[in-house]
Amino acid sequence: MPYTELQNELNQRAALGLLRQRSILQSAQSPHIVVDGKSYLSFCSNDYLGLANHPQLIRALQQGAEQYGVGAGAAHLVSGHFHSHHQLELELATFVDKPVALLFSTGYMANLGVVQALVGKDDTVFADKFNHASLNDAMLLSRATVKRYRHNDVTQLAQLLKQSNEHGKYTAPDAESSHARFPLSGSPPEGERDKVSLREPHVKCGRKLVITDAVFSMDGDLALLPELLDLCEQHDAWLLIDDAHGFGVFGKQGRGSLSHFGITSKRIIYMGTLGKAAGVFGAFVAAEQIVIDTLVNHARSYIYTTATPPALANALLASLQLIANGDALRAHLQSLISQLRNGLRGLPWAVMPSATAIQPLLVGDNQAALNMSNELRERGIWVAAIRPPTVPQGTARLRITLSAAHSAADVTRLAVALHELVA
Ligand SMILES: *Cc1c(COP(=O)(O)O)cnc(C)c1O
Repeated sequence: MPYTELQNELNQRAALGLLRQRSILQSAQSPHIVVDGKSYLSFCSNDYLGLANHPQLIRALQQGAEQYGVGAGAAHLVSGHFHSHHQLELELATFVDKPVALLFSTGYMANLGVVQALVGKDDTVFADKFNHASLNDAMLLSRATVKRYRHNDVTQLAQLLKQSNEHGKYTAPDAESSHARFPLSGSPPEGERDKVSLREPHVKCGRKLVITDAVFSMDGDLALLPELLDLCEQHDAWLLIDDAHGFGVFGKQGRGSLSHFGITSKRIIYMGTLGKAAGVFGAFVAAEQIVIDTLVNHARSYIYTTATPPALANALLASLQLIANGDALRAHLQSLISQLRNGLRGLPWAVMPSATAIQPLLVGDNQAALNMSNELRERGIWVAAIRPPTVPQGTARLRITLSAAHSAADVTRLAVALHELVA
C-alpha cells in the first residue's frame, strides 16, 4: 500500500515543524474565540473590520434565507443567478469604480478563472514572487509562460517585460492552442454544452498579464501599484490586482487599493474577496464589460460550479453599507496598528515593514515560530505561526492580524505576553 509512503512524508513534515493541523472553533469569529472549550484572545483572523459576526449581517442573512431559501441549486449560467447576486454585482462595480463586476465563489476560484480565461499557452504572465498561492496556481494552470520577479522589484519586472517584447514573437494559433483553454477534464453543466463546443477557437497573440497581490498576505506590505500600472501602459500589458487584504480597509470609504493609490485604468482587472474585511464569503472581479463577458464565457471556475447561496449576497449588501460607513472602524484599526508596532519595539524578532492590519513578527526557524505560537496559546492568546512553503525557507513568522473589533487593551495584552516570552 502506498500509505507507508504518505506516512513517511507526514512524519518528515512533523520532524521539520511543518505539519499543518486544524483547531476547532466553538464560537463566532471575533477577537475572543473559544477553541476546544477554552477561551482565547485571537490575532489571526482576516476579519479586519469585525463584521463576520455583526448583527446587521446576521439579520440580512436570515432575511435572505427566508426569501430565497438556502442553496442556489445551480450554476450562475443555468438558473442559479439570483436577484441578490445581481444587485450585489452592480453595487460592487460602482463601489470600486469599474464598469462591471462578476461574483465568484471564492478568491481562489476568481484568480484561477481570470488568469485561465485571459491568457494561454502563447502568452506570458509576470508575477511577484510573494504572490498568493492562488495566483501562482492560476498562472501554472493557464499554461502561459511564467516570469516571476523579485518581490516588489519593478526594475526587474521592467527588464522582463522589455525582453518579452524583443523575444516574444507572436505564435500563430494552431489547433492545439485552441484547446489549451480546456486542459482539464470535466463536462459543462446541462445547457452549457452547446455554448462551449460552438465557441470560436481563441486566437492568441502574445498577451501579457502582470499579476500581483495589492497587500501581500504574509508580509502586510503594499505592491507599488502606480509603478506597475506605468509599466503595463508602456508594454501594453494587463494588470491583475488581487486586493484580498485591501478591499474594505483601504481607500476612500474602504473602496480598496485602487482608491488608496488613486489609480484607474481599463488595463486594471480588479479582484476583491468578500470573506475577509467584508466578513462574509466569496469574491468578485471588476473590469471592463468585455473582460467580464470573456470570464462568463471562458472562466471555468465560474462556469462549472454552483452559485453561492443567494442569502450570502444579502449579507454582503448589508456589509457593503457598513464598509462604506466604516470610517470610524478603519480609524480605530489604524490606531491599533500604531499601538502594536510601538508595543513590539525592543523584541529580538524583526517587526516587518507593514502599515496594514497584517503585522508579522519574523522568527526565522520553523520550530521556534511554532514554539512561540504554543507559548502564547498557553497564555490564552492565539497567533498563527506561518511556515514554508507558505513563506520562503528561513522566514517562519508569527502572523499577527488586527481587527477593528480588538480593543487597545487586547493589543496591550499581546505586547506584554510577547515581551514575557523573551524574559
Ligand atoms: C485569501 C486570499 C485569496 C483567496 O480568497 P478566498 O476567498 O479565501 O478563496 C486570494 N488572494 C489573496 C491575496 C488572499 O489573501
